[in-house]
Amino acid sequence: MNIQRSRCKEIVLPFFLLFVSSVVVGQGNKNADSLFKEAEQLRQEAFTEADTLKYLKTIEILKTIIKEYPESERAPEAYLGIMSVQVNNLMGRENYRKAVQEGKEMLKKYPANAMAYKVYNFLYYTYSLCLYDYQSELETIKRILELYKDSLSSREKVQYHNTISYAYGKLGDTKIAIKELDSLSEKCEDKEFKEYIERRKRFLLAIGNKWQVRESDHLRIFCTQGSPAKRDIEKVISEHEKAYKEICDFLGVSVPVKIEYFFFSSQEEADEWFGKGTTLNSANRDLQIFALYSDKAKASVKHELTHCIAYMISHHSRQARLELFSEGLAETMVGARQGKPIHTLAASILKDKEISIRDLTDNKTFYQIGDTITYPLAGSFVKYLLDEYGIEKFKFIYKYAHPAQIYSQLNLIFKKTYGKTIDELEKGWHNKLGIQ
Ligand SMILES: [Zn+2]
Repeated sequence: MNIQRSRCKEIVLPFFLLFVSSVVVGQGNKNADSLFKEAEQLRQEAFTEADTLKYLKTIEILKTIIKEYPESERAPEAYLGIMSVQVNNLMGRENYRKAVQEGKEMLKKYPANAMAYKVYNFLYYTYSLCLYDYQSELETIKRILELYKDSLSSREKVQYHNTISYAYGKLGDTKIAIKELDSLSEKCEDKEFKEYIERRKRFLLAIGNKWQVRESDHLRIFCTQGSPAKRDIEKVISEHEKAYKEICDFLGVSVPVKIEYFFFSSQEEADEWFGKGTTLNSANRDLQIFALYSDKAKASVKHELTHCIAYMISHHSRQARLELFSEGLAETMVGARQGKPIHTLAASILKDKEISIRDLTDNKTFYQIGDTITYPLAGSFVKYLLDEYGIEKFKFIYKYAHPAQIYSQLNLIFKKTYGKTIDELEKGWHNKLGIQ
């Protein structure tokens, strides 16, 4: 799934980092501390129970700290806590925007506090991977570089400049993107990273020549001169735009920026331009898709598009989402494999193999079993859930089920969402497939 990371520094505050790392420091305030502990406890409960009300209550408590104990060391930390709940737990554009407002307020009130650096980074993360607001991302990183120029290591500076270059690329300003990379080459000592910079530069320089860019309504399509994708470009655009619309309509979401779609005619071509081992037929949170398009084999039109568009429901990386739902949704949207409808395929797999939904809720087991088995089963189960219970319930569980939740917690979340346990839903699904 993951391509050569284009953004080196990915700032994701681990779920409970804010709370577990906090020891009483500075102007200790017992009341603020105990409220903070209470918020921590509540957020843990909200996470394991998928309880949105408890998340909102967590925010309320953190806001009380800010209001009642503004001099306490907990107050600036509470801002970061609120932002994290809004961005990492509640999600959705409205909450991302609220988080930005909280961040700005914190920086205004506590510009010199040690937490300010974390807030800046969290802001830039929110702009880039949640709001896709690359202009604000750029401004935030430039501010970080300006404010912390004396304390940042040279490695950190290189990483920030790389991200700046990358954001300019997203904004379509290749000239400045290349200029940023040029200044980086001299400062960078890491061999692997230097190679990445050179490769990235080569790609940017090739835009308009070897690499052709075609903008459609919702996609920026990249393909090389003389490639099968370039030859079939009109067909490619109409197929992908049609699929894009179907997926957005089905999920009830819209994507604020164009998805970048890279077509490669072979693995070698992908390796040459994006580094050895580039994963073909993959989608990432930067809203990019890397797809194989040759005369022998073509990536599914809908599978990776679904992954990309589903980031509008939950921006989480692969490690933080349940593959049962993520791959299941993508396969459901495709609807068939090897020419067989997804339910037919699942039924034939289950006749030979005993695989339970419990197995599929564990990401590690999901990978171990292998995608020729797990993908159709997940797709069929998700189709069953969607057909029987609708999209809104599915969106809820897609967002709140997490690989860090243990099975009994997941079972409760299923029960909360569907009014049934995993076993009960599995039985219903098996009935649908005609399996006893
Ligand atoms: Zn997939």
